[in-house]
Amino acid sequence: MLQTNGMNFSHSLITALIAFSLLLTPSLTLQAQSALPNLGDDTSMTLGAERRLGDQIGREIYRDAEYVSDPVLDAYIGGIWQPLLAEAKRNGAMPFEMDTQFAWHAFLVRDKSVNAFALPGGYFGVHLGLIALSETPDALASVLAHETTHVTQRHISRGMSKESASTPWLVASMLVGLLAMRTNPQMASAAMATGQAASIQGQLNFSRDFEREADRIGFTLMQPAGYSPEGFVDMFEMLGKASRLSDSGNFPYLRTHPLTTERVADMRARVGEFARSKAPSKATNIDDANYLLLHRLMAARAGVMADLSVDAQKFYLQQGDAALPTDAKYAATQYAAALAAWQTKDVARARRFYERLRASTSIKTPPAALQAVRWLGAELQVPTALDVTSQNRVEMLYAVNQTMLTSGVSAAELGNVTSRLQDWLSIHPQDADAWSWLSRVQLAQNKPVRSAIARAEAMRAQLDDSAALAQYQAAQSLIRRGMQVDSIDAAIVDSKVRELQTLTRESEKKKR
Ligand SMILES: [Zn+2]
Repeated sequence: MLQTNGMNFSHSLITALIAFSLLLTPSLTLQAQSALPNLGDDTSMTLGAERRLGDQIGREIYRDAEYVSDPVLDAYIGGIWQPLLAEAKRNGAMPFEMDTQFAWHAFLVRDKSVNAFALPGGYFGVHLGLIALSETPDALASVLAHETTHVTQRHISRGMSKESASTPWLVASMLVGLLAMRTNPQMASAAMATGQAASIQGQLNFSRDFEREADRIGFTLMQPAGYSPEGFVDMFEMLGKASRLSDSGNFPYLRTHPLTTERVADMRARVGEFARSKAPSKATNIDDANYLLLHRLMAARAGVMADLSVDAQKFYLQQGDAALPTDAKYAATQYAAALAAWQTKDVARARRFYERLRASTSIKTPPAALQAVRWLGAELQVPTALDVTSQNRVEMLYAVNQTMLTSGVSAAELGNVTSRLQDWLSIHPQDADAWSWLSRVQLAQNKPVRSAIARAEAMRAQLDDSAALAQYQAAQSLIRRGMQVDSIDAAIVDSKVRELQTLTRESEKKKR
């Protein structure tokens, strides 16, 4: 797990995004699919403007203390989401220009509540609590399909008035004010005092028509993407059950937007129609326990990471102790307990749980689940053979981490890791984590200027040009103070400083 820069916001600016969390809102009428027209294409904001607005908000999320960078869960969410995006492209729900101009990036948020939200420009937020409490990958996919549809149907830009869309930078700064509302009432009241924040919040609350459209079109993505459309019903049932429980604080969205029986009935009817007309999905043909194993391990991981309190860790340790090998969720309880023990720095106990987890795998365990078990071993620093040349991002980053943890690592090995990261970054220049690792490796190689350049690029990948500029300027002053660098590096630093000065000046102008 990588540390991100900055801890500027006390609790979470992100939780305040509830203001436009899109998981569920009531839809009141049951209508046949064909009777629902598309809501029209008139939108006052261009794709580029919406993306810039999203970038502005995304930059704040990267700096939020509750933002979680976890390669394993990032890969898991990406693996569920990508087939839905591919289907949206294939069936035309997502036009080519939107595919290329939007970010299609999901932020993980350390929050145990069940929530997900779409942001302008193809950014998404997924609470760890949503992953932890989803019973199946299909249920999780249903939320992602719904959120994706809010974006592909331009609900965000269409939800803003023409007036506010013409001044996106203003909207962004108002949003940032709104986001801070929960934990910083003074800042929020300052934002509200202008009178505009409230109206923008109103515009971002999606209409019932948008919700229905997100359900209807999101539903069509499921089966072709390889998910059981019943995932929608599973998710509704989970939320329905939760809403009957007393106020646990875990379902903030439901408190303000009760789940209606009509909404559930609507989706049940859709699933019923689907079941009559189509062959069963892939999911139902796979041995259930094995199909669900990877999901259960990832849900366990998300649960442990969602709540770092001592009480929560204790809970997972107790569950790990109490579980019997015959329990359906035995492997997941051992995974969670191993991770929890590791977080409480009890290495021996973590490894005992890990050994029980490993012993529970068999020849029938699917490769993806075995891989997740191996990666947990690597995290617990159990000797694990990792391949730095792998095209798999988790495998590659964990291999880099392992090398850096080795005492007395040779110069040749550091050079090897550096060139692997450089290769990776030439294909994935937006990978902030990889840039951060490159920066650390280059520091270990005693190359402070190159390390600063990599750190600057990590900042750029996290959409923070001002922080990137500061890093390049730090590199520049190292060179001016006589640090030996090759002339190409020096030229790069100078031109990047000029480029970023121009960029940051322009964005300052736009904000005014
Ligand atoms: Zn929605």
